[in-house]
Amino acid sequence: MGFYPTCSSHFKRVKIKLILILIMAAYIFARNEHYIGWKSYFVRPISKDHVRALVILGEKLDLDFLSPPHPEREALVLVPPKHQLEFITRLKYFTIKYWTHAENVKAALDHDDELLRNWTNVILRGGGTVMPYNSYLNLDAIYAYMHDVSMRHQKTVTMVTAGHSFEGRPLRYLKISTTNFQRRLKKIIFIDSGIHAREWIAPPVVTWIIHKLTDDVTEPKILDDFDWILMPIVNPDGYEFSFSKKRLWRKTRSTDTNPKSYRCPGVDGNRNFDFAWGATGTSSNPCSEIYRGNKAFSEVEIRAVRDIFQTYFNRMSMYISMHSFGSMILYPWGHNSSVSKYSFNLHLASSAMIKAIKNASLPNFPAYVNGNSVQTIFYTAGGAADDYAHNLGIPYSYTFELPGLSGGMEGFELDPMYIEQVCTETWLGIVAGITKTIKLAEKDRS
Ligand SMILES: [Zn+2]
Repeated sequence: MGFYPTCSSHFKRVKIKLILILIMAAYIFARNEHYIGWKSYFVRPISKDHVRALVILGEKLDLDFLSPPHPEREALVLVPPKHQLEFITRLKYFTIKYWTHAENVKAALDHDDELLRNWTNVILRGGGTVMPYNSYLNLDAIYAYMHDVSMRHQKTVTMVTAGHSFEGRPLRYLKISTTNFQRRLKKIIFIDSGIHAREWIAPPVVTWIIHKLTDDVTEPKILDDFDWILMPIVNPDGYEFSFSKKRLWRKTRSTDTNPKSYRCPGVDGNRNFDFAWGATGTSSNPCSEIYRGNKAFSEVEIRAVRDIFQTYFNRMSMYISMHSFGSMILYPWGHNSSVSKYSFNLHLASSAMIKAIKNASLPNFPAYVNGNSVQTIFYTAGGAADDYAHNLGIPYSYTFELPGLSGGMEGFELDPMYIEQVCTETWLGIVAGITKTIKLAEKDRS
């Protein structure tokens, strides 16, 4: 009597264990199954012609660039199985140097998942007060921190909920001001990040700026002289999805812009603004990573950013959209090859940023480059935030491509040991850039 039940319960336990293992295996398999057969490569263009060829190949072969090609550095690109042969053949034809990053993208992502479990499993101490900069934080942790800061600095910080995302998550930003946004002559600086979900290094940079304007003020003049709007996660649905389901998710998660959107959800938020919407460098195919949506501002998340611009553009002197990766500061115009009449000042201020970043950077980080989007990355894109802002009259409008991994690493992640470094050097760059714009304004007045 005793033996059989024990044995059967033992078998039951083994069976349950086996089922659990299978479920876990299926889960891991399912997580990155989209990337079965994909490979990733570093490409090293050395001329503008090389970069142009890569951009054209990108559109033709559905390549997914994790960093934009540039003649002074390597770019990382994901290549789907059906186009790998042609990809290599074309690179050889154009004599573009390349080397493999991951033979098996799915395996590399599975490996990253293991690391990320340790990197993202963080409990905030003090109810959100202490923000760790040695791991990537999910949406709840970032929102808890924003709430906590706004509670502890009620005189200067206001948290705004500007609506809800497609899946119903709050869209939140902080307004920081020593004069409650009441001084009409005070200029506003607006910085956002997380429009592209997978670019995880960008949101901590924006929360670090919040930290430097509240708990650790080392530049009081910059806090006093400007009002600030800081939105760390423009696209909360995509951001959460990149944590829970698909690490390399880039777009929003909407399913209502096209009949195909149920199969291929999401819109590239940085192609969804109503300036040169639908121009080159965008796609009308919902399955593309650069799908622009069925109309400008189709995305509720992007309408929330639009409303910030519409309310404050008269007072905004600077807008920065934080992205990764590539160590670049890009400025308008990006929708075509024309030059902004403000490009001289845009260049001077971004050069000041780069100089300050370089002084604070690490030897293994690539040097920043700056320039007009089209002339720097030879790529035009309609419907982007920086062009939209500049067209509204915001003079200093930038896209930052923050530093990322460089050649030779196995996975796709910037090691969290570098998060704080990227935050501190970028803040110093922004301070130097703002200081430069003040000097340029004084020069213009005199
Ligand atoms: Zn981006």
